Amino acid sequence: MPNSSAPMDSVQPLIDAMQRYWGYDRFLPLQREAMLCSVQRRDAVVVLPTGGGKSLCYQVPAVCRDGLTLVVSPLISLMKDQVDALEACGVPAACVNSTLSPGERKQIAERVTAGELKLLYMAPERLLAGRTLDFLADSNLCAAAIDEAHCISAWGHDFRPEYRGLRILKQRFPNIGVQAFTATASDQVRRDIAEQLELSEPEFLVGSFDRPNLIYKVQRASNRFGQVCEVVERHRGESGIVYCISRKEVDKTAAALAALGHQALPYHAGLADDERHRNQNAFIREEVHTIVATVAFGMGIDKSNVRYVVHCGMPKSLEHYQQESGRAGRDGLEAECQLIFSGGDFITWSRMLTEGDAVARAGAQRALQAMQDYCQSALCRHRALVEYFGQELGGDNCGACDVCLGELDVIEDSLVTAQKIISCVVRLEERFGGDYTAKVLSGSKEARILEFGHDRLSTYGLLSDQSIRTIRDWLEQLVAQGFLIKTGEFNTLSVTESGWQVLRGKAEPQLLQPAEQRPSTRSAAPDNWDGVDRELFELLRTRRKQLADERNVPAYVVFSDATLRDLARQRPTTRERMRGVRGVGDKKLADFGEPFLAVISDYCQQHSLASDLAPAPVAAPVQSTSEARPINASSIAAFSLFREGLSLAEVATRMGRAPATVNGYLADYLRHERVTDPSPWVEPTIVARIEEAAGEVGSERLKPVFELLGGDVDYDAIRVVLTCLRNRAPATAE
Ligand code: ADP
Ligand code: ZN
Repeated sequence: MPNSSAPMDSVQPLIDAMQRYWGYDRFLPLQREAMLCSVQRRDAVVVLPTGGGKSLCYQVPAVCRDGLTLVVSPLISLMKDQVDALEACGVPAACVNSTLSPGERKQIAERVTAGELKLLYMAPERLLAGRTLDFLADSNLCAAAIDEAHCISAWGHDFRPEYRGLRILKQRFPNIGVQAFTATASDQVRRDIAEQLELSEPEFLVGSFDRPNLIYKVQRASNRFGQVCEVVERHRGESGIVYCISRKEVDKTAAALAALGHQALPYHAGLADDERHRNQNAFIREEVHTIVATVAFGMGIDKSNVRYVVHCGMPKSLEHYQQESGRAGRDGLEAECQLIFSGGDFITWSRMLTEGDAVARAGAQRALQAMQDYCQSALCRHRALVEYFGQELGGDNCGACDVCLGELDVIEDSLVTAQKIISCVVRLEERFGGDYTAKVLSGSKEARILEFGHDRLSTYGLLSDQSIRTIRDWLEQLVAQGFLIKTGEFNTLSVTESGWQVLRGKAEPQLLQPAEQRPSTRSAAPDNWDGVDRELFELLRTRRKQLADERNVPAYVVFSDATLRDLARQRPTTRERMRGVRGVGDKKLADFGEPFLAVISDYCQQHSLASDLAPAPVAAPVQSTSEARPINASSIAAFSLFREGLSLAEVATRMGRAPATVNGYLADYLRHERVTDPSPWVEPTIVARIEEAAGEVGSERLKPVFELLGGDVDYDAIRVVLTCLRNRAPATAE
């Protein structure tokens, strides 16, 4: 030991172990503190968001010391994945559960006794059953980690009575450090966890709940299926979850996505156990990319490379929303969370809120209201979520939500609405704050308002068709745009000079609301594809799947997406270079080095590409986005007719639609199926003329072609031919 005075405080052994087994060279926020607690045998409650790297907090200290670390986890599937992941890194670990044979159980016991295992996973029931505790007393147990620790609290959203028994740990083993891990935000739950487990002077380590890599978006439903499709289409080939409120919707959506050529499967409680299980596994093993599910899906899923989560309807609380959307992007790479809502969702949920006593129902109603407010608001989504959970977010623009990316719609009557709001501030003699003003505008019957007689103001109830939250948002927008100003200790609103201009109709504010439907622009979002060779990435991904299948483990156990991207960025061709890539530890290099290096070398040779680049990221090639229009259900119905080779007119007659509408369907079809032959829809001589013109002025825009042809070929024909031309070009974005 280099420094004998405080060897147990040193972080170097932790970094060394992290580097050796996991291939990571730095801590994520609070990992260092949590690991030190563990090393020092101190009790702790560690709250980190999903993807915050909770597991390493107890796994790294476990490999740094002699003795056994016990991990209590609620679900067998989770434990199994964790053990697979540890073994892939070369860390000796096992889990005991009801599916093991007595022989297997005995074998594990022997490995514990021999001091061979570093981590032992089990469910709480198992810990409390039979002689487990006695057995642990005879082992060299030195720490315990409780995963999903909020399950111990009745205040939490997932209370499990069997977790209550875990207090026995501290009673029976007072000298070990017990650390509780959760992603649940509430302060009450945190304190309850410490109390229930009888932790002694626990350290509370609470990280930021913000998930900067998630791109949150909210849309009003206009054509739900088309909106879902738009997202799935944009992420074709990537893993994603689509949540629907009802089973019927799940089945319908899964079938429709499948009809569009997406690999999608349904998941809900109405399916037979084995089918549900099969579908879940297919998703984890990347045999299908999209799972369409009710909220029953997700618990016990550790899949780290979920690139999008779409909510086809509004969840019933922000807690649910955070948890479900949080299943995206565990690997820290960007992921999209799209929420599609309508006013009807609120009503549907309200009707279903019949469980429990009056207090519980009121709580559920409040949670539902907060969810709806979130949907209708035009405040930064990251900020709204983090503030809901009692934290603050630094910075003005998160750069990763529809609001900050400027994707919201300006409401039609911005001026009139702003005038109503500002004149209300004037009527209130500039003596009240935002909450109060919003309530007056909404026509609230709150006692204070009636006492002041503000229900008699001419502006009282002027915006009664809007929620208080929406009005409140608009107020904030007017402040942000400088038409109102907050002053004094109580943030009293007053009207600025430009605010008066609005009242006179001389200035026009822009009030925002969630977008109806708009294809999202991906380019503005933080993107970790910089410098990644996409084609190589796909090849590596295929290889990863083969290796994972051979070993019967999920793909991400082999390497995370983040590691694959780094490989496709740096293109290492030697073992040394590969070892330098994040996420490649000793064991993984030994096991997977050759196959991945072979893929990379071949690829670089074939394409005469430079290899062994430095880790510094390089600028990404600009991707040309063709007119991406969401596809709707009617379009899809037309697809099969086009496939049969029917003409536009025939399809229009069969479907009873106007030719112009069917033209739109055809455009979707050509784009979606990457059709390259225009002959079923355009005469050969015309095709030849259009192609020739495109040869001169390019195939990107219709107008130059139209003009070059002297205006005697119609736009519809030009669109068809140019789309086919573009479809012939290779899909890469170089
Ligand atoms: P949580 O349990 O908090 O949701 P995980 O433990 O599953 O998070 O970790 C999320 C991802 O982050 C995993 O892919 C993990 O390998 C990775 N990770 C953890 N710690 C680090 C680190 N220090 N550096 C880089 N990646 C890390
Ligand atoms: Zn934002």
